[in-house]
Amino acid sequence: MKVGSGGGFRAIWYTWKKGREAGGIWKLYKAMRSKNACKTCALGMGGQKGGMTNEQGSFPELCKKSLQAMVADMQPAISPNFWTENSAEKLASMTPRELEHSGRLIQPVLYEQGQTHFRPITWADAYDRIAKKLTAVQADETFWYFSGRSSNEAGFLMQLLARVYGTNNVNNCSFYCHQASGVGLQSSIGSSTATIVLEDLEHADCFFLIGGNPASNHPRLMTSLMHVRRKGGRVIVINPVEETGLVNFRVPSDPWSLLKGTKIASDYIKPHIGGDLALLWGIAKAVGEQGAMDENFLLDHCQGVEAWKAELERLTWSEIVRKSGIEQVEIESIAKIYGSAKKTVFAWTMGITHHTTGVSGVQAIANLAMCRGMLGRPGCGLMPIRGHSNVQGIGSVGATPKLKEAIFKSLQEKFGVKLPTTPGLDTLSCIESAATGTMKVGICLGGNLYGSNPDAKFADQALANLELNVVLSTTLNTGHAHGLAKEFIILPVLARDEEPEVTTQESMFNYVRLSDGGPARVPGPRSEVSVIAEIGSRVAAHVSGIDWEAMRKTATIRDWIGAVVPGYEKIATIDETKTEFFIDGRTIHEPKFPTPDGRAIMHVHSLPELSGTGPSELRMMTIRSEGQFNTVVYEEEDLYRNQDRRDVILMHPDDLRRLGLRHDERVTVRSGTGELPNILARGYEKIRPGNAMMYYPESNVLVPRSADPQSKTPAFKNVVVTCERQPS
Ligand code: SF4
Repeated sequence: MKVGSGGGFRAIWYTWKKGREAGGIWKLYKAMRSKNACKTCALGMGGQKGGMTNEQGSFPELCKKSLQAMVADMQPAISPNFWTENSAEKLASMTPRELEHSGRLIQPVLYEQGQTHFRPITWADAYDRIAKKLTAVQADETFWYFSGRSSNEAGFLMQLLARVYGTNNVNNCSFYCHQASGVGLQSSIGSSTATIVLEDLEHADCFFLIGGNPASNHPRLMTSLMHVRRKGGRVIVINPVEETGLVNFRVPSDPWSLLKGTKIASDYIKPHIGGDLALLWGIAKAVGEQGAMDENFLLDHCQGVEAWKAELERLTWSEIVRKSGIEQVEIESIAKIYGSAKKTVFAWTMGITHHTTGVSGVQAIANLAMCRGMLGRPGCGLMPIRGHSNVQGIGSVGATPKLKEAIFKSLQEKFGVKLPTTPGLDTLSCIESAATGTMKVGICLGGNLYGSNPDAKFADQALANLELNVVLSTTLNTGHAHGLAKEFIILPVLARDEEPEVTTQESMFNYVRLSDGGPARVPGPRSEVSVIAEIGSRVAAHVSGIDWEAMRKTATIRDWIGAVVPGYEKIATIDETKTEFFIDGRTIHEPKFPTPDGRAIMHVHSLPELSGTGPSELRMMTIRSEGQFNTVVYEEEDLYRNQDRRDVILMHPDDLRRLGLRHDERVTVRSGTGELPNILARGYEKIRPGNAMMYYPESNVLVPRSADPQSKTPAFKNVVVTCERQPS
């Protein structure tokens, strides 16, 4: 049956189904209600107000994604025979879903190149091997990678360990998703995170949702958008694909919406892939031509205005239309809506950042907000919709190649630790260094580094070139089956709600939650901080200023974070106060920006030509399905797009005809980087002709390593491909 709206009774039915998988509805409910931050997206739920509650106290706020993550953690332990029954080659043939559903990891395992199988090893053996290798190589021959799954405490401790060990090769998964947001925002407003809090969405009468599908990936955001619509506000969606849940969504916690559905998008614009930057400039040009700019705001609170206006003047409509794929009249009508809005929030996700112009895209959004004074007031502002639940916190506490000056200084002055000053590498550069052999060891705090890389074949070879790669994980993913280093060690760790001590997480709204942890569900996994502290005690025992034994306590680490991370001071006493908090200095409700002169900065860009315009070409973007979160695939089907499988390329029926293909015909998809055989070419009415989409991470083999020069974010969303019919 075709799905015509997001959410709804299917979501409720899914909850029952997942409840059964988890050992009963009550058991799942109790787990979901525990005082822990939601383990999935960065919108943030739970914490001390109880699970399924947002920071405004609204309950129940749960979604399919949060259930999927919880049920995965509630799986039984991986079978004792798993490692003898499944060779490394067999693991490499398993789908992301099969790997995820293999069970919880409970003991350290080792794979050595030349062997056919992984084998369990003791914790002592694992630590010895890691310490031996880390003491044998140079610090800058190692990299330390962080996923957004881990706590602030684990993230802070591991980046500290990496630096006192001697390297700044410290980076996190945002280099493959939202780094362009951080860099773009920092260069525009002097701060790299959202300027608003969740409550601001309740006051907005206009919401731009650019390049994202939160109906699938951040489902509870739909409740806020429903409120905007109910108050008569506009939700303007910009996306080359008409996404079901962005058109109509049945919010399960709202009886009326559940029964009748809620229209989400009031206006839906479908530019070509790669056309967003031109479209954003076009909207700004039309706002100017309609006389709707806030000249006082520009004069009083912005710099770079003259150059920006001159560029708007120079830019012709023919260039904008050609490069965006949107007609002038449509752009003007959007500008008119924006021009009459009183409070506007701009939100975006990887449809903006996954381009070689990612930072420019974010800056162009900020320009657009500035030109109507939609910044620095309650109900207005900028909101990057980030992915994993603590990806922002991981960056805040220092898991980046370059430490913020204030953190660097405080660590040295307050704690007497000596930090390296050599430049650190971003994630993609570390992989490229592994390929050449200059990078020898990787330590990964969660995540799926292989799976999240562009140019998957290259990533496979590069990671396999490492002498040692260590991954701290809860369950298996494709990163444990591909690109296996000469020595590859998996260390099983506890999930957030199983930690023996409290931990903290930061949402995309700069809200720090306190998670109580809880009893371990399976015997064997260890707390992340205890694992990191143990490695620290073995490789950096005599570093001045650090007591690794004390660092096994998350409270000690919070003392450090509170002392050195600006805005995080309240974390030092959160154990006693149990008071969750917004990070000081992040929310911008007054037009004073943390730039040197307090003004926001406008930027000028050159607009790229559309790519993939040849007669046999398509512009392809990688996408996540409704049944997946980042690289983790929970369900093979993609309900909202009515797809039953993932080995497909979705294109408009006009493109099928143009390429001489039939619906569901088998093709080999090729890009300048790689090829994928045995893909079904499918007609999909909802995508703009000339464009196509394929599921991530499987299609990463086609994605080039070309990255945005400023943020180093690869262009996962703009890959030129061709399709060649396979002989039947
Ligand atoms: S929207 Fe995000 S934070 Fe909220 S319940 Fe779903 S996954 Fe968790």
